This record gives sequence, structure tokens and C-alpha cells, in this order.
Amino acid sequence: MEGQVLKKNIHRFAPSPTGYLHLGNARTAIFNFLLAKKNNGEFILRLDDTDQERSNQHYIDQIKYDLEWLGICWDKVEQQSKRLDRYRDILNSLIKNGNVYECFETTIELDLKRKKQLNSGQPPVYDRQSLKLSDKDKTELRKKVNSYFRFHLSGNKVTWKDKIAGDVEVQTNVVSDPILIKANGQFLYTLASVIDDIDFKISEVVRGVDHLTNTAVQIEIFKTLVGSNPEFAHHSLIVNSSGENFSKRANSLSIKELREKGVEPGAVCSILVNLGNGKRMEIKNDLPDFAKDFDLKAFNTSPTKFNTEDLYALSRVALSK
Ligand code: GLU
Repeated sequence: MEGQVLKKNIHRFAPSPTGYLHLGNARTAIFNFLLAKKNNGEFILRLDDTDQERSNQHYIDQIKYDLEWLGICWDKVEQQSKRLDRYRDILNSLIKNGNVYECFETTIELDLKRKKQLNSGQPPVYDRQSLKLSDKDKTELRKKVNSYFRFHLSGNKVTWKDKIAGDVEVQTNVVSDPILIKANGQFLYTLASVIDDIDFKISEVVRGVDHLTNTAVQIEIFKTLVGSNPEFAHHSLIVNSSGENFSKRANSLSIKELREKGVEPGAVCSILVNLGNGKRMEIKNDLPDFAKDFDLKAFNTSPTKFNTEDLYALSRVALSK
């Protein structure tokens, strides 16, 4: 693959338009936007919409509306569903070079394998049975089922200096070789995201700590494609007062819902920027005003407590016009 991952300042926020923007991913958007602003960089809104069944235009429009309401503007929008030919080309080159292999198990077979492994106390890691198939076996199988493709992980330790998590090590021999394209032809985020981050010259990927294993896998793909990778920073997830994950869509309040309940954008931004940075809460009405002093070093990866009532209180007292 041509090109290098350049160290210019380009950030991206990459929501999947399968639901509304919620507090968890709004925080990721804010971090990336502020870092781009702080360094006079570029901020890309990337729509991860390769899942055609679950993605839709309504959510795309709503995510854009919500981001603008928060004070986030972007330099360009990229949409994964418009880049499928590019992903196909790269996938083919990976297959040709032996980095990616064809598999034939159905979802039911994979589920059964996983259950068996778990029952016998083994980690549910894909057993690479498809790698043992002969050309003749594959020709026969292709007549019966649609194949899918996996990236062959090295099994080595992947390490990186994370700008929030510090030194991270992930042993990839306890991770299943990731599926890059499903049997129905859908490209999965793992490969599509790496290709986009290379093509759009993303300098730093800032996202939730729930992506740490993905990052190890993606670093292996980056290294295979271009020999280098962007920097990474994984921020904490926000949790409610009983410690339940707030970032998961089902438990999280959507920005739309908060707006409809009278919450002010300045309250959302002030709380999300300050949450977990150990400093005294600063309140500002305009998001870009936070850019100058924004620093990833102030954050960590421990779950960050958040109380929705604070949003209402702040909206009523400090920011109401
Ligand atoms: N679409 C992915 C998500 O919403 C993007 C993750 C990333 O920033 O790479 O989880």
C-alpha cells in the first residue's frame, strides 16, 4: 500500500450511524475536536456505515445536528459505505500476500466451537481450522457456503505508548484472528478503519478504553500495510453512580433527549471536558474556548463517574440565558 502515516495533526471522530449520539461518544468527539483545534489541525467526521442494515440517513443527519449543537464543526465528512472499492482492493492485496485467509464456518458452527472451548475452560479463540483446508476442499466448500476472511495475527506481543493509558501490552495469541469481511460481503470496522486512518493521514486516534484489544489488532494491520501506525490515546468510559457503564448506548442518554429536556450545550461540553481530569470544574459556553488548555495528560483510564443531575443543575444555574 502506498503512503505513510504522516505525523501531521489530523483527528477523526468515527461514529456508526446506527443510533443517536450519546454522552459516551460525544465525549470522544469533543476530545478529538479540541485536540484538532488546539494544534490548528484538521477534524474529520467519519461515518462508519458499512453495516447497511443498521445504518441510516436519519441517524447521520441527527449525529451531525447534535455535533453542531455542541459546537463541533468538521473540516470534512468521510463515509465508509462510499469507499468499499478501496477496501476490496486492499483486502485483495492482503489475501495475495498471505496475510488474510479464507474461512468457511457458519455462524452456528463458530458459536458451537466457542461454547465447547468455554465449557472446557479454554479461551474462545478461533482455532484456524480453515487454514488447514486444501485447495480442493475450498473449491467444494465455495459451492455450498459463502466464505469470509480473517487477518492472520502474529500471536506476538503488541506494545505501544498510549497517550492516556501509558505503556500498553496486548498478547495477540489470546485474540481470535479478526474477521475483515463477513460472508454477506460486509466489510467490518477493523480493516475499514485502518485503511481510512492511513488514507486520511490520521495522526492520533483518540477513543474509549474499550477499544484497547482492537488497537493491538489494528496495529498489526497498520504495520502490515504501511509499516507504521498513528498514535493512540484511550480515554476512560463514563459510568453512573452505581458504576454501570454509561457509554453503552442502551444505558446512555442521547444528546437529543438531553436537549429536549432543556439541557444547555455549554453544560454538556463543560462537564464532558472536565470529567475525569482531576481539576476544578471550569465552565464555558463555547466549546472551542476549552481547546487551548486541553491536555490528554490530565486524564486516565479508570471508569469516570458521572451524574446526570449535574447536567440539569448546571444548565439551570450557570448557563441559562
Ligand atoms: N465506529 C467505531 C465506534 O463507534 C469507531 C471507533 C474508533 O474511533 O476507531 O466504536
